[in-house]
Amino acid sequence: MANIMKDYIYLDNAATTRVYPEVIQEMLPYFTEFYGNPAAVYSFAGVSKSKVEKARREIASSINALPKEIYFTSGGSESDNWALIATAEAKKEQGKHIITTKIEHHGILHTCEYLEKRGYEITYLEVDQYGLVSLDELEKNIRPDTTLISVMTANNEIGTLEPIQKIGKIAHKHNVLFHTDAVQAYLKVDIDVKEMNIDMLSVSGHKVHGPKGIGFLYINEKAKIPAFIHGGAQERQRRAGTHNVPGIVGMGKAVEIAERNMLNNKQKIEKLREHLIKRVLNEVPDTILNGHPTERVSNIVSFSFKNIEGEMLLIMLDQYKICVSSGSACTAGSIDPSHVLLAIGKDKKAAKSTIRLSLSDENTIEEIDFTVDKIKEIVNRLRNMSLS
Ligand SMILES: *Cc1c(COP(=O)(O)O)cnc(C)c1O
Repeated sequence: MANIMKDYIYLDNAATTRVYPEVIQEMLPYFTEFYGNPAAVYSFAGVSKSKVEKARREIASSINALPKEIYFTSGGSESDNWALIATAEAKKEQGKHIITTKIEHHGILHTCEYLEKRGYEITYLEVDQYGLVSLDELEKNIRPDTTLISVMTANNEIGTLEPIQKIGKIAHKHNVLFHTDAVQAYLKVDIDVKEMNIDMLSVSGHKVHGPKGIGFLYINEKAKIPAFIHGGAQERQRRAGTHNVPGIVGMGKAVEIAERNMLNNKQKIEKLREHLIKRVLNEVPDTILNGHPTERVSNIVSFSFKNIEGEMLLIMLDQYKICVSSGSACTAGSIDPSHVLLAIGKDKKAAKSTIRLSLSDENTIEEIDFTVDKIKEIVNRLRNMSLS
């Protein structure tokens, strides 16, 4: 127990992850030894270039894409912005209507708001109490001027997995492009862009034990999506800017490691998750598990505790060096209830009584037990206080 207290218990892996030490080792020489610009002609630069291309092949095969369909970006947000804005502009003669959902990450939602101000029309699909979109609703909302559907693979707050393959099929039936933000799902569930009818897919390195500031957008070779960042001719003239070579190398390594351990990690994390869920629901009364009972990503758990301020619980867990997150997004000092929790039908109070715990393969059963003990203790204390 003393040992546990010495270090943080990190249960916020949906926010970011620890970079694997092997990833750092792989990256280091590309800062100091092989620092050449992969776009240069001399053979010294060839070392970094070939390493970038190796990472690209590794990443492409992880989603059954071609290497030339992988475009390195600065992360999930840039990939989301690119997919939406560039598609909207390229297709504006054909139509200015885009369909997405109410539970997307802000990388999508705030980009949609930006497009709305510029004359585009966005339909935000409702979700059910589990966070699932309805395929019927989706199809009903497709119009002749719809150019893009963007639905996330796994939700970052409640972990629900959307029926991506079926959504892609409907999109293609109507000749509409399909984008998915797969930041939380990548390397946790199998993704095959061909089989799942995906035209564009966003991924971020730092959510998969890679470095921050690197990610990619997969673009199907048949989808003629123009550049978003303009400048040099990198990435087949579609994404300008000198390659983030160490970042790309690191992400490639993280993908290699995760692919090797995917099944093991999934089983390990699911075991931890089931233990966490079982203990919390059994031992903390008036608690609700949010998200879908079975259609969920392995590592995200969201609980609502009746009559508890999630924000307060989070701060008190922090005193035991336990890192979790609340369901809310802090905006300029005021705490707004999460749009995701409101969309699954919670009122403001219930939405604010929520915390999210997101696990990784580096967590242990001891950490989970300690965390549940503390949650139980704090929730009891807070509830008793509000009674007196
Ligand atoms: C974290 C996250 C992003 C943003 O990725 P960055 O690399 O931090 O820009 C986008 N979408 C989802 C679902 C995320 O969880």
